[in-house]
Amino acid sequence: MKPRIENLYVHIPFCTHLCPYCDFPKERLAGNRMREFLRGLQAEWHWAQREMDLRPRRVFFGGGTPTALSPTLLRELFSIAPWGKSEEWTVEANPDGFGITKASLLAEAGVTRISLGVQAFRPADLKWLGRRHTRISIQSAVQAARAAGIPKINLDLIYGLPQQGPAEWQSTLEEACALEPDHISAYALTPEDGTELAAMIERGEWHPDPENEAVLFLLTNRILESRGFTAYEISNFARPGQECRHHQAIWSGEDYLGFGPGAVSTVSGRRWRNHPDTRRYAESALAGPHPQRVEEELRGEKERRTEKILLGLRTNAGLEETTLSGHEDSLIELERKGWGRRLDGRFLLTARGRLRADEVAAILT
Ligand code: SF4
Repeated sequence: MKPRIENLYVHIPFCTHLCPYCDFPKERLAGNRMREFLRGLQAEWHWAQREMDLRPRRVFFGGGTPTALSPTLLRELFSIAPWGKSEEWTVEANPDGFGITKASLLAEAGVTRISLGVQAFRPADLKWLGRRHTRISIQSAVQAARAAGIPKINLDLIYGLPQQGPAEWQSTLEEACALEPDHISAYALTPEDGTELAAMIERGEWHPDPENEAVLFLLTNRILESRGFTAYEISNFARPGQECRHHQAIWSGEDYLGFGPGAVSTVSGRRWRNHPDTRRYAESALAGPHPQRVEEELRGEKERRTEKILLGLRTNAGLEETTLSGHEDSLIELERKGWGRRLDGRFLLTARGRLRADEVAAILT
């Protein structure tokens, strides 16, 4: 029997410029390469249709910057598969270059959620992050999404920047809340290997400040919860009923299929990652039977359990206590420290505990 897949991720690997902290597979916009990518994606979709029972319910287009594509190429992308028949369809966008034309195109195709890569509002923060948009273009992008009728808006933010203490971060959060989004994702700036940011650290030009980050994390929780958001995952905050269903499905361990260069899939206990280079991805997808994979593993019971615990601890659903049998003493100790609590047969981390989610997971696995 073909595996049934309800969660799809599509990676669109193009950006108008490249940010120094980013390690996602991406490249600068180039017409020929984008057409190659679309042909590869079409071939991958046909392969998936043959091999799996595709019933898209939750679709996420990430990148890269999906909305960096021209309206013509976006129409081509949207015609590859019935993405718009899903219950939730999120598309990531950058505030620069996202106006009413593209917003209307997305809305007409059936996009239900836009996720805007805002990251910051202060000009100094945006400059340091290598972002080209401004406070004004953020406001215009939100207005365009609303005017086009896209029902839900997420704003992505980054904290832990230079000269960003609690007062500066609080004003960023307040500016974000003033735009009345349904959802906010707030991530600590993480230096990934091979990025320009990692090189800056090596050269001694900047260094992360974990203590400040911890203060800003707790502040995020306090401020956003006081504004009606629930911290339903360590970095994700939603107004009631506005959680990202795609993310929730993946955190709860459902299968998902990733399309595009570098995309990861997990289907029937097997996990693989497509080749991250766009040309290799497209050529191999066209040659068949499926795009070249750079990693592939069959995941055993132990790996699945460890991941379930790690992901569960990051969410406000927590874990069923039965999953943690044999660790009763640790749970009592975690409660005593104020890192966790038990509620209706489940174990959840507090905001202070989520700061140490990895450490707690290591104790409980
Ligand atoms: S726009 Fe997003 S995906 Fe593109 S380089 Fe910047 S952070 Fe990476």
